[in-house]
Amino acid sequence: MTRSEELFARASKRIPGGVNSPVRAYGAIGEAPRFIDHADGCYIYDADGKRYIDYIDSWGPMILGHNFPEIREAVIRACGKGLSFGCATEIEVEMAEFICERIPHVEMIRMVNSGTEAVMSAIRGARGFTGRDKIIKFAGCYHGHSDALLVSAGSGVMTSGVPDSAGVPRGCTQDTMTAVYNDLESVKKLFEQAPDQVAALIVEPVGANMGVVLPEEGFLEGLRALCDQYGALLIFDEVITGFRLSFGGAAEYFHVKPDMVTYGKIIGAGMPVGAYGGRKEIMEMISPAGSVYQAGTLSGNPVAMTAGLTQLKYLYSHPEIYKGLEEKGEKLYGGMEKLLRKYGCRYQVNHISSLGSLFFTEGKVSDYASAKASDTEAFAKYFLGMLKQGIHLAPSQFEAMFLSAAHSDEAVEETLEAVNRYFAYERINT
Ligand SMILES: *Cc1c(COP(=O)(O)O)cnc(C)c1O
Repeated sequence: MTRSEELFARASKRIPGGVNSPVRAYGAIGEAPRFIDHADGCYIYDADGKRYIDYIDSWGPMILGHNFPEIREAVIRACGKGLSFGCATEIEVEMAEFICERIPHVEMIRMVNSGTEAVMSAIRGARGFTGRDKIIKFAGCYHGHSDALLVSAGSGVMTSGVPDSAGVPRGCTQDTMTAVYNDLESVKKLFEQAPDQVAALIVEPVGANMGVVLPEEGFLEGLRALCDQYGALLIFDEVITGFRLSFGGAAEYFHVKPDMVTYGKIIGAGMPVGAYGGRKEIMEMISPAGSVYQAGTLSGNPVAMTAGLTQLKYLYSHPEIYKGLEEKGEKLYGGMEKLLRKYGCRYQVNHISSLGSLFFTEGKVSDYASAKASDTEAFAKYFLGMLKQGIHLAPSQFEAMFLSAAHSDEAVEETLEAVNRYFAYERINT
């Protein structure tokens, strides 16, 4: 028995499913998840001492690589002052100023402790501001696990949501409408059904929770126009794309201006941080300035703010990182595409900058239904084939690969060699 297997057996007795967040459990893979001991740069080391090139990167936060020295040192210094005060601190002001002075669509911002909390609070703010109840989301976009957003994806347009989880009352999802990603007609139909009732439309400006799905030409602009036409707020959920596609996230990358944004992951550099922000008149609705209640005992925690702000400052002062991630993405994901073609596989690779997905399906992947057409058994085999070669991928067809600034050319080449070996072997054996 490996140490990971031993730990998983122990964990399963005391933690539901053995993990504190479901995707860690290697759901469809049929093995014990690797328990991690430590990580450095682009490498992660499991409890059995095995080294892997990591493409999970804590699901995004580690854009500078694991255990980045400047962040680690800053955190240790911050710890020296005390872990939490539950009172206002200077670093919270610095964090808010740093973001608002550099991202034009964020005039005010509120810190919370996770992406889930950020989205839940942004939606409450949007409802408070507009005095409307309904929201529109897209099938396949994930916005955290708050009740109103745990809506069954279905296959088409839904004017009233059905809970996607036990324990969510129907009443909590009845105002959540679901549209089809990259399909503006489906969005229009929903607005027409409830023209004066939609508070906000929320979207992942690049879908990254159904595998990576890019917005087609004109899609985000079309959403902006429809929101303007119907008086609804446009919320970009930039929990993954924020500070990743560019410092100003997808909004800056695609030149589309949302009314509100939500952040998570990178903003905390590995500490539990989320945030939501936007136009001043919307954010002034939030308590204690306004009548929309939202609070958090540990929100704006000084140690977490130190980690996040150190990372944001580093990213902002090193814009070459974004160019480097574009090039590395092209090299890795473009290289994977070439290998697939070499072996006559017509699987799809979707990618943008540091984010990429290999979908085990032959049709173009542009929405949830086409992503779902993937052969998840083929993915599970591929995942294990890569793991055996020291490549740590997300254990699900529907999660992105994350490149960081710490992935060296050698690491990318080693990864491509592993992909090559996997498909060469596959071809001989099938
Ligand atoms: C991860 C994620 C969330 C939820 O963030 P948590 O910190 O896990 O609560 C919300 N939206 C998107 C787009 C995400 O990727």
